[in-house]
Amino acid sequence: MKGYENLSEEIIASCLRLKKSGLLLGTWGNVSVRLPDGNILITPSRVAYEEMTADDMVVLSPGGEVLSGHRLPTSEREIHRGILNARADVGAVVHTHSPKAMAVCAREGGVPVISEEMCQVVGGEIPLTEKFVPSHDHVGLGRIAVSALTEANALLIRNHGPVCMGRTLADAELCCFVVEKSCGIYLDVLAAGQFNRVPERYVKAGRDYYLNQYGKT
Ligand SMILES: [Zn+2]
Repeated sequence: MKGYENLSEEIIASCLRLKKSGLLLGTWGNVSVRLPDGNILITPSRVAYEEMTADDMVVLSPGGEVLSGHRLPTSEREIHRGILNARADVGAVVHTHSPKAMAVCAREGGVPVISEEMCQVVGGEIPLTEKFVPSHDHVGLGRIAVSALTEANALLIRNHGPVCMGRTLADAELCCFVVEKSCGIYLDVLAAGQFNRVPERYVKAGRDYYLNQYGKT
């Protein structure tokens, strides 16, 4: 995208890393980043990540209008737009169809805080949306995602996949890996029949440490 070539390249590189790690499959999944002017740089619909170029990115207004780009924005744009409009602290959103998170999306309940990594990067339990919405209902999908939004940096869309957030694209990408790993561990401990949660006060302390002190002490 003209004027945002570097950021566009960063988005494509992130998508390729996620795909290489098995978190993205085919053309499913999408990424958005909030621009300094408040608009949204977002991946296009139905373009293979290996073939995607900076020129394929689309700029959306916070109201959903396509401001520039020759492609259609991802059909799941309402998830991104809804979250970026609802959470001023979020600068990037990544939606994947990663397998362990999708397994948890198919059961009841989200993911309790079961690790230090979740405290620091996710910042709380991962909620699950309340009801199924088919993905062709773009507006409904955005609404249901926003309805499950908490202060945590991730949520699960029922029978669909995870949405991960962060201050930056690097944060949101890291969150995808932590969510996928956490969902895998959660399935393992459920199979084991017992698990312990991280006490609530340590969840907030862990997140605060990651945001304000990590790498500085
Ligand atoms: Zn999806």
